[in-house]
Amino acid sequence: MSQKIQRPKGTADVTVSEVYRWHYVENMLRENARLFGYRETRFPVFEHTELFIRGVGDTTDVVQKEMYTFEDKGGRSITLRPEGTASTVRSYIENGEAQNGAPYKAYYIVPNFRYEKPQAGRLREHHQFGIECFGAGSYAADAEVIAIAASFIKKLGIKTKLKINSIGCPHCRPAYHKALREYFESKKGELCETCLSRLEKNPMRILDCKSPVCSAIAEDAPRAVDYLCDDCRDHFEGLKQSLTDMGIDFAVDTSIVRGLDYYTKTVFEFVFDGIGAQGTVCGGGRYDGLIEQLGGAATPAVGFGCGIERLLLAADASGFVFPDAPTCDVYIASADAVGAKQALKIASELRALGVSVETDLCSRGLKAQMKNADRIGAKYTIVLGENEVNENKAILKNMKLKEQLESSLDASCIAEAIKKGSN
Ligand SMILES: [Zn+2]
Ligand SMILES: [Zn+2]
Repeated sequence: MSQKIQRPKGTADVTVSEVYRWHYVENMLRENARLFGYRETRFPVFEHTELFIRGVGDTTDVVQKEMYTFEDKGGRSITLRPEGTASTVRSYIENGEAQNGAPYKAYYIVPNFRYEKPQAGRLREHHQFGIECFGAGSYAADAEVIAIAASFIKKLGIKTKLKINSIGCPHCRPAYHKALREYFESKKGELCETCLSRLEKNPMRILDCKSPVCSAIAEDAPRAVDYLCDDCRDHFEGLKQSLTDMGIDFAVDTSIVRGLDYYTKTVFEFVFDGIGAQGTVCGGGRYDGLIEQLGGAATPAVGFGCGIERLLLAADASGFVFPDAPTCDVYIASADAVGAKQALKIASELRALGVSVETDLCSRGLKAQMKNADRIGAKYTIVLGENEVNENKAILKNMKLKEQLESSLDASCIAEAIKKGSN
């Protein structure tokens, strides 16, 4: 035997018996997005590296440490997408979406890639549900985006705390950066090497450094909310009022800055206490400068990303009961060659009527076929042989209730009997 090959570290398989949970969550997310008027967008798994350096920010952990970057055979620098927002913005600009009017409302369900230390719900390949709303500068858009997340989190029975913060805009940020820089200068001897390099360029990044020493220092740092300009303060007050009007509970947490450079004004996280050390189920905010920064016209933007693996973990930890996976409607076993031939014909006709049917693929005897019907959880079984074909009759056995129904050997009659039987 050849040696087995294992999947790369930090990746996961979704097996045939688990995938129904993914389908359930993905369908719910799509339907929930539809209720708010968001449509799906799709984009490539890899992009030019430049997109993320400019779009995510070259002082972030993501760009500095976590990207899967390689040179392709044409000598271009290519990166596997580490997050969805930069790609959505690139696509929005490239496809001239602004011409179709504002707001542009999109969602995506995509895999993202980050080279980081794998832990529960945090993989090197993880799946993300993302929401983006471009062209709406009002706090009403922030509130809507938050309401989308609150809505699906509730549908999965997950108990979270919504934490919101405002980190200001280009008008008020210089004063805040100055205050931060002064504070961190005084602690220069204790900061980690990465943070020392961030001190000049972007002192806000020190606030979410993962080093315990840096995070302890960050606790007493100046708070962005104390430096907001009038516009940012009005925006933040408006958001809080809108959330209250929608009945969405929240708390202001001034320690939330999010790990990416592009945020302005609102940032938020839905935090769950049950998963690991870091229980953020969903996080996002406003990034009014990003579209311009990536070559588009100045356009306000707000959105969030939500890890699907984490969402599943949180749903499990909250005791959410997923509906059972759909099983086979009817298994048609064959007693002989005549029955096998008839089984193929009836199976095709039933499938055309939307009934799921399985037949024997392993040349098994009747007893083994019935055992297989049990294994796959078939709701009904039908045994076909020469007798049944001659008498034009099918006995449908309900596997759970052990009841029998009789039908003529006709697909629409069988489909009708199954429909009646399952009520
Ligand atoms: Zn401001
Ligand atoms: Zn640090």
